[in-house]
This record gives sequence, structure tokens and C-alpha cells, in this order.
Amino acid sequence: MLKEIFIGLSTNQMLTAAAKKYGLKLGAQNVVAGTNVEETIKSIRELNALGISCTVDNLGEFVFEREEALKAKDSILEVIEAIHENGVDAHISLKPTQIGLDIDYDFCYENLKEIVAAASKYDMHINLDMEDYGHVQPSYDLLETLLEEYSNVGTVIQSYFYRAQEDIEKHKDLRLRIVKGAYKEPVEYAYQTREEIDANFVQLIEYHLLNGKFTSIATHDHNIINHVIDFVEEHNISREKFEFQMLYGFRKDMQVDLAKRGYKFCTYVPFGDDWYGYFMRRLAERPQNLNLVIKQVFNKRTNTAIGLFAGAYALGRLTAKKK
Ligand SMILES: Cc1cc2nc3c(=O)[nH]c(=O)nc-3n(C[C@H](O)[C@H](O)[C@H](O)COP(=O)(O)OP(=O)(O)OC[C@H]3O[C@@H](n4cnc5c(N)ncnc54)[C@H](O)[C@@H]3O)c2cc1C
Repeated sequence: MLKEIFIGLSTNQMLTAAAKKYGLKLGAQNVVAGTNVEETIKSIRELNALGISCTVDNLGEFVFEREEALKAKDSILEVIEAIHENGVDAHISLKPTQIGLDIDYDFCYENLKEIVAAASKYDMHINLDMEDYGHVQPSYDLLETLLEEYSNVGTVIQSYFYRAQEDIEKHKDLRLRIVKGAYKEPVEYAYQTREEIDANFVQLIEYHLLNGKFTSIATHDHNIINHVIDFVEEHNISREKFEFQMLYGFRKDMQVDLAKRGYKFCTYVPFGDDWYGYFMRRLAERPQNLNLVIKQVFNKRTNTAIGLFAGAYALGRLTAKKK
């Protein structure tokens, strides 16, 4: 129920606009690295000093206006220059819908190509984040075309999809981030239970560790992380061939500890004023995660605000059902 509420809230355009206007006041400031490039570079420097590299996400998604998509592209280009000029250890993650996938495929491709070309000058990696099911195939198509010209690009495999094994085999020569999957997907396309998703997640990670180029294991799940640590030792897999990834602000102690123990670690650093959808998905993920997030970032006032949003949304759904 809570998951559904927060996923629903994550795509609410009125609340997104309100969130932009009122800034990081809903408790999101602990999981968003900053609202501008300067603040973000500062956060990256702090993480780099702890031996942690970063993948930077200029927040934004589900963009339907060309002007907004072009603005997002320009911001990403600005971040690429800032990473290079400041000499920090970071690369880029981006969502295809932010740069126009819902507007026009070719328009999105041109934007993406410009970004990948700019990053390739600095040998900087670009990761295509994966969104909901409807955007998965077009995103892989964008990737295939880019790969004809560029090699500094990789993507994400979402373990809840039945198609994930096929996708990972197809893309085994790439740097891949493997995740459980963050969106609500129907049973036609995706495993629904925690057990099934976890089992597929482990299988995909092991497959890419043994057969793939480079594996980013993106999870806050200590059971999966411990399993990977045992697996790489057992199979003599070099620490240069994989990294762990977590989101900025989550399990900070574990992030630092893994880096200290000599594992490559990369933190996903989101920044910008379009933080609302990202933040709501974090709240939607898993009940345990939700509790941890609430304890970590919420105070009494923000709890009330979110409670009101959730209540309003649930009421809206009930009313809609009655109609
Ligand atoms: C770097 C990164 C990039 C991502 N990119 C994408 C993407 O492109 N597309 C996409 O669909 N999804 C993406 N995701 C989200 C991902 O798909 C999952 O929805 C999200 O990571 C939650 O699953 P989990 O594996 O972290 O653990 P969960 O299934 O949420 O939790 C499993 C267990 O881990 C422990 N745990 C989890 N969180 C915490 C915490 N904060 N503190 C203490 N214990 C905790 C708890 O014991 C919990 O029961 C990304 C995630 C990360 C970390």
C-alpha cells in the first residue's frame, strides 16, 4: 500500500512543481548532494577523500517539453566540464526521459550523442539509467546505436524483469550496473516477490562477474554484498573488475567501510532541484528501507507533510475507484 502511494506520488506533476519551488525542505537534503554544480563538486571531493568515486545524476525525468530537455542536456554538459576542470573522480548517470525520450526518439538520441561525445573527450563514462518497462527497449536501442561510435557508455540491468538474463548476455562486453529495480511493474514483465527478485539479482551479478567486462553491484542489501564478497574470493575475481554502488546518504558507514577494506566503491550522487520523483521512489522501495529513510531523514514536520500527501493521494485513489 505504502509502496503504491509513494510510486503514485513520484509522478505527480503538481507536487513535483511544488517541490521545485520550495527547495529541499521535505527531508530530501540528506539524500540529495546539492542544488547546484558547486555544491555537488564539494560533495564529490568529500567522498573522493574517503576513497570513493562518484556517479553524478543531474536530477530530472519524464520531461515532455523540448526546452526543458535541452536545458537538462546543457546542465549535464556543464557537469561534465566541472568534473574535468576540478579533476574529481566522477562520471555521469542520466535518464533518457530527462533528455527527451518521451518527446521524440531522434531528438533524444541527438542530445545523448552530444553528451557522450563531450564525455569521451575526457575518457569519462556515461551510464544510461534504466527507467520503467515502457522505456527499457528504446533505451537499449539508444545504447546500441551509440556503441557504433563510442565506447564510454554503459547501462543498467534491472533484476526484476524476466528479460534481464537475455539483456545481460547481449551486453556482457559493457560496464553494467546491476540493480533489483525501482519501479512498480506488472507480473507480465517482472518478478513480484522479494525472493524471486533477490535470486535473479544474485544470478545476474554472478554471470556478469564471471563473463562480463565490469560489474557495478548497486544495492544497500548487506546479504547480497556479503555473498558477492565470498563469491569473488572463491572464484579469484580481481577487485579491479567490479565495484559496489550505493545512493548518496544511504548506509554511509558501510560505504566508507567497504572502501577502507579495499573494494572499489562508487556513490550515486543526485543533485539539482528536480529531486521529488527520485526521493519518492526511495521512500517507495521496500518497507525496511522506508523505515530506515524515515528514521534517517525525517523530522516531525516533514513526517506530517508526507503523511498529508500520502493521505491526499490515498483519498484521491479511493474517490477515483468509486467513480
Ligand atoms: C547506485 C544505485 C543506482 C540505481 N539505479 C537504478 C536504475 O537505474 N534503475 C532502477 O530501476 N533502479 C535503480 N536503483 C534502485 C534499485 O533498483 C533498488 O530499487 C534499490 O537499490 C533498493 O534495493 P536494494 O537492493 O538497495 O535493497 P532493498 O531490497 O531495499 O533492501 C534489502 C535489505 O537491505 C537492507 N537495507 C536496505 N536499505 C538500507 C538502509 N538504508 N540502511 C540499512 N539497511 C538497509 C535491509 O536489511 C533491507 O531489508 C539504483 C540503486 C542504487 C543503489
